[in-house]
Amino acid sequence: MICIRCHRPLRLPTTTGMGPVCSKVARAVAPNLEEPDLFGYDITKAVQAAKERVRIGVLQAVATARMETLRESRAAHVRLLGWQA
Ligand SMILES: [Zn+2]
Repeated sequence: MICIRCHRPLRLPTTTGMGPVCSKVARAVAPNLEEPDLFGYDITKAVQAAKERVRIGVLQAVATARMETLRESRAAHVRLLGWQA
């Protein structure tokens, strides 16, 4: 799990997808991921919360894939050309 803003590793997953410093800088508001109770089920809110979870999950997957590609690209440069990019 890495921060979607600065790409530093996160110790724990967060609801904003960012670490505490980036959350403050980006003024990220933690989405309301509260599950509605059985009797007051708010479908619109539940859909919004689910969409937000998916959005942050996608951003984190993209950031992680980007970092892995960069790391592998650097390793390939060293392996094949003998120098660091
Ligand atoms: Zn960050």
